[in-house]
Amino acid sequence: MSVLVLGGAGYIGSHAVYQLMEEGQDVVVVDNLETGHQDAIHPEATFYQGDIREITFLREVFKKESIDAVIHFAANSLVGESMDKPLKYFDNNVHGTQVLLKVMVEHDVKYIVFSSTAAIYGEPETVPITELMPTIPTNAYGETKLTMEKLIKWTSQAHGISYTSLRYFNVAGAKQSAVIGEDHRPETHLVPIILQAALEKRESITIFGEDYDTPDGTCIRDYVHVDDLISAHLLALDYLKNGGKSDIFNLGSSQGFSVKEMIDVARKVTGKKIPAVIGPRRTGDPSTLIASSGKARQILGWRPKRTFIQQIMEDAWRWHSTHSDGYKSDVNEK
Ligand code: UDP
Repeated sequence: MSVLVLGGAGYIGSHAVYQLMEEGQDVVVVDNLETGHQDAIHPEATFYQGDIREITFLREVFKKESIDAVIHFAANSLVGESMDKPLKYFDNNVHGTQVLLKVMVEHDVKYIVFSSTAAIYGEPETVPITELMPTIPTNAYGETKLTMEKLIKWTSQAHGISYTSLRYFNVAGAKQSAVIGEDHRPETHLVPIILQAALEKRESITIFGEDYDTPDGTCIRDYVHVDDLISAHLLALDYLKNGGKSDIFNLGSSQGFSVKEMIDVARKVTGKKIPAVIGPRRTGDPSTLIASSGKARQILGWRPKRTFIQQIMEDAWRWHSTHSDGYKSDVNEK
């Protein structure tokens, strides 16, 4: 039996594929390569290039392979873009998930681990954020993820599917071997942008707002290492296969770092100056997001290993400093 990884050529999905392969599991990857990278796909995974909204394509994959579980990463995930193009996000994310669930029901596939986000909570009233707090997304991306969660919940109830919805905080770092890492085009995330500035691929990093109600005035986020994040997915899959009930889990490190602190960590790790300038706030940015991850630790037995922010930055730097133009296969393509 195989695990189907949807979006297995993306930053987080590719790390999942590598860990599953390291565990000796059979893995099938589906990715439309719109934002994913051919070179990020594990060379020994079975790969189908295609779009999950294409029901004929998806049915064919389920028909050819014996799939017993799905890990679903295939979604657009840029907050800013989602505000300009909400229809794109609802179509790819929500409609894509609807097609997926239809095919899972047709083929009697009983387990799904879903890649969700802290953006579902919007601007929290208090931190750390627990799974029981209100879900009031402040952007279209978060709204699509919340809708996907609801689609999965109701379909699961009706058709006997078990799911875990994993709500990610800020994911960073890369595989320690630097064989895969983070490469978004355009890049909008803080850690890769800081490291591109360290590599002089950009002149400076712009800090989005210095007037937040935080000790140094810049936004605070909870950064979790991508490989720790993925180990929670493997545990979630085991949990479901062992009869665990459908549930929602936050995944974060439960520690907060400000934008300025992150730049300082990067300066120490890289030994580079990294020029920073203050700019206006970015629309829709909550001031502080910190996870309570106690539930994942307690129920899934999750034990993140690379929890020091220096380790996360070092692993990210190893990837960026050895792949200053990102994945080679894409250099002239995007
Ligand atoms: N950020 C910034 N400059 C940048 C990119 C990000 O100051 O060029 C800030 C952003 O406002 C947020 C934090 O860094 O407070 C993390 O942003 P990112 O886009 O990485 O993740 P998000 O928190 O939006 O999921």
